[in-house]
Amino acid sequence: MEPTPLSEAKARLAAEIDKRADLLVDVSHQIHANPELCFEERFAHDLLTGVLEGEGLAVVRSARGVATAFEAAAGSVGARVAVVCEYDALPGIGHACGHNVIAAAGLGAGLAAAALADTLGGRVLVVGTPAEEGGGGKVPLIDGGTFADVEAALMVHPADADLAAMDVVALHQLHVSYTGEAAHAAAAPHMGRNALDAAVLGYVNVAALRQHIDPSERVHGIITDGGHRPNIVPHFARAEWIVRSSTVSRLEALEQRVLACLQAGTDAAGCEMQVEWIDPVYADMIDNAAIVERYQANALALGRTVRPPSRSARVVGSTDMGNVSYTVPSIHPMIQVAPPGVPIHTPAFAGFAAGPEGDRAVIDGAKALAFTVADLWLDAGLVERARAEWRAELSARGGAP
Ligand SMILES: [Zn+2]
Ligand SMILES: [Zn+2]
Repeated sequence: MEPTPLSEAKARLAAEIDKRADLLVDVSHQIHANPELCFEERFAHDLLTGVLEGEGLAVVRSARGVATAFEAAAGSVGARVAVVCEYDALPGIGHACGHNVIAAAGLGAGLAAAALADTLGGRVLVVGTPAEEGGGGKVPLIDGGTFADVEAALMVHPADADLAAMDVVALHQLHVSYTGEAAHAAAAPHMGRNALDAAVLGYVNVAALRQHIDPSERVHGIITDGGHRPNIVPHFARAEWIVRSSTVSRLEALEQRVLACLQAGTDAAGCEMQVEWIDPVYADMIDNAAIVERYQANALALGRTVRPPSRSARVVGSTDMGNVSYTVPSIHPMIQVAPPGVPIHTPAFAGFAAGPEGDRAVIDGAKALAFTVADLWLDAGLVERARAEWRAELSARGGAP
């Protein structure tokens, strides 16, 4: 059999997506109109799995024991490429991160790839990953083996610009409880041990630390409980922190420095401290240059110039796609749905995510991803190059989280 030329394959994938354009935009709008939070995405789960099943993919609902996750597979031979869908929303501001666009674009790419998988000799796995905004929903899927037999994982995320990548930092959340001794603040303060003092002294220590950490690192905290009345020495206080660093391996050292600051404050106040790290760690993102290059070329063919992040156009944040990128070669490009300067996580952005720009991003995103799947299927050298680059970058960053 003659190998199918890549450009012909991409034209056929585009036609498969155009055929489903109304369906994909409708899916995007329906998810947008039904925002669901962290691990509660039943509507999106049922909608997406219903469409995938209807088109004949082999669907596993509630994959790997996660109620609102799914896997949908097609194809029997060749490179196996995962297309990742996110679909959770934000409290109060709905789809202000535009995950409805991610879901619909991933669905479109997956359906097109599935339709041609046997003809082109490739395999596709559409992965539904809940709870990106805090629950780390991709981590149980990684641990459960979703990506074990996968050559590469692709997704596209909305933004206010077309960008090759997001500036992703590793993140770990920390909850701290302080216990002291209550006492009458006027009659017997010497009998008390002030838990609020412990929290405040720890806070001040971290504030001093912040001058002397890497410029890429961030530590931010709030005190959520600081006593009940000023005339009672607080016997209990509580704080929440987020610790971020450029890579997972650097994060650990910073965590120890933060803990030392908090412990010193606790010791000074004569109190006890209990710490709880909230897992999972969100890893930094290893963007695979070999695959990103193909995505850029594919998006350019659709009229989108995808630039590397710059000072004036960048999105800084954390995502559990970073954890996937430590598991298999991955990309996380950004697709423009809003005018420059309208950042994600704002009500204005939520509006654009279901507007004409969001709809265009669904179709263009689906095509750019599907074309990149075809590159991975038909250019065997690409899979090898991506894998070699990934291995080198993984060891440069200190290995798996
Ligand atoms: Zn977000
Ligand atoms: Zn997001």
